[in-house]
Amino acid sequence: MNGVELRKQRIRGFEQEPPRQLCIIGGGATGAGAALEAWVRGISFYWISSGDIGEGTSSRSTKLLHGGIRYLAQGEFSLVKEALQERQWMLKTYPKFCTKQRFILPAQNHWQAITYRLGLWWYDQKAGLPKNERHSYLNKGRFLDALPGFNGKATKGLSYLDATFADQGFLSALWMEMDAHSPHVLNHTRVCGLKASGNTWEIRGIDEFDGAPFCLTANHVLNATGPESIKNMEEWGFTCPHRMVWSQGSHLLLKGNFVDWKQALVVPVRQGRVFFMVPWQNKWLAGTTEAVLNEFPKIPEPKKEEVQEILDSIEEFVGKRPNKQEVLGQFSGIRPLVSLGGKSGKKASFLSRKHLVINHAPGLVSLLGGKWTIFRKMGEDGLKALFKEKLPPLVKDYPVLEPLTGIPDDRSKIDAHYYKTRGAALFPDDLVFRRFSSGLEDIPDYLNHREEWWSWWWAQAPDAEKQKEKKRLTSYLFKASVDQEPQQD
Ligand SMILES: Cc1cc2nc3c(=O)[nH]c(=O)nc-3n(C[C@H](O)[C@H](O)[C@H](O)COP(=O)(O)OP(=O)(O)OC[C@H]3O[C@@H](n4cnc5c(N)ncnc54)[C@H](O)[C@@H]3O)c2cc1C
Repeated sequence: MNGVELRKQRIRGFEQEPPRQLCIIGGGATGAGAALEAWVRGISFYWISSGDIGEGTSSRSTKLLHGGIRYLAQGEFSLVKEALQERQWMLKTYPKFCTKQRFILPAQNHWQAITYRLGLWWYDQKAGLPKNERHSYLNKGRFLDALPGFNGKATKGLSYLDATFADQGFLSALWMEMDAHSPHVLNHTRVCGLKASGNTWEIRGIDEFDGAPFCLTANHVLNATGPESIKNMEEWGFTCPHRMVWSQGSHLLLKGNFVDWKQALVVPVRQGRVFFMVPWQNKWLAGTTEAVLNEFPKIPEPKKEEVQEILDSIEEFVGKRPNKQEVLGQFSGIRPLVSLGGKSGKKASFLSRKHLVINHAPGLVSLLGGKWTIFRKMGEDGLKALFKEKLPPLVKDYPVLEPLTGIPDDRSKIDAHYYKTRGAALFPDDLVFRRFSSGLEDIPDYLNHREEWWSWWWAQAPDAEKQKEKKRLTSYLFKASVDQEPQQD
């Protein structure tokens, strides 16, 4: 049986079941938090997503587990404290996916250094860090030892601890482990409507592969569709007092030898934003931006101005611009920022990153906003709002997860066996990028060989799907050669 038939069998099986306790709509960090908390409480659930699990914003973040020092400056103390506690929980529970990372915050004068120290003292206290991990002051010598060749105005700074994590790798490992124990995932399926019938909800949708309709039933529904949450609720016939601001953030991924810095850089730039250069999987991640969009894009891609802005910041702080060969790829994600009461006028960077629970009807809740770092806490809050005093206690340990293996060197070896067993992969890029831990640098190679490596998919996929797959992948390619200013090599 091929992957498409297996998938149909799964949908048919789900349709014939009695109602499960919960249906989570949205396969990103928010849905993952709810799924994880449902799992440890023994709640039966479906987890449905359009696109592949993790294809949305949740694989397009800055990959930080952090309290967020810039939110301190905005007075968001409770958000930062909660995120620091969750950061520590992730480091303890899933150490194989998380890496402690020291960041340098440059200071231009003594007064700034003192203010930063005060904030970082609080930051370390709330995380409960041991003495040897707390922040430290770097004089000129130590500052330049850590960031050789730093080109900004500052000559001293503060070094403090946060963490990076493999966002997509963690999400894939999590859902595949839970799904292997009890199947609950339906990817590439779009929910189009909800209907209450007694104490059950009918969840109607379509299979994105061939447009076939389906209907599942559950007693509770959690809308965790990220940036599309409010738009979806309105399309499904519910009202929402708030407005979603689609704030696109972009990154460039640079070769590991672009700089020989020993620590990551975080530096305030314009309008409440910060610029990051973060070592990530032996490369450097540079970003990010805030570009507010009027329409939700099918495939988010960095705008020309965003790429220029990142290249300018790199030049400002590193003292050189990367050439085409040094940029391995680009990606953009859409922040699910909520403007309370639908107010307009506030800059996206000043909108709160706090999450929000909206009760639409008995047994129907939306979980909006938030951050990857607090995904578990968000999930818990969503379930508390749905189940209220009937929320079951923890009955299981959090699942033990192993990092995903890399893609085999000989791609032709990835045959139908992988297709069937590596959890509901419908498109080759589901497998390459979200079941195996392949990176952006492999995309050009993959695009050149995909028909030969994935002949089993090519034989059955409609042309439109092949085109969509190509579009998704090319959105990750750095297009400086065609639409950016000429750069010196
Ligand atoms: C540039 C950028 C950098 C960031 N950096 C960090 C960071 O370093 N650390 C951090 O903690 N947070 C960070 N964040 C925030 C974090 O990434 C997001 O808060 C989080 O990923 C949002 O997850 P989500 O599940 O709500 O949304 P998504 O990941 O977008 O998931 C929503 C899912 O719902 C699906 N969906 C939509 N409509 C339907 C429908 N009708 N039916 C079925 N499914 C549907 C979508 O396909 C999607 O898969 C960053 C965000 C951005 C944009």
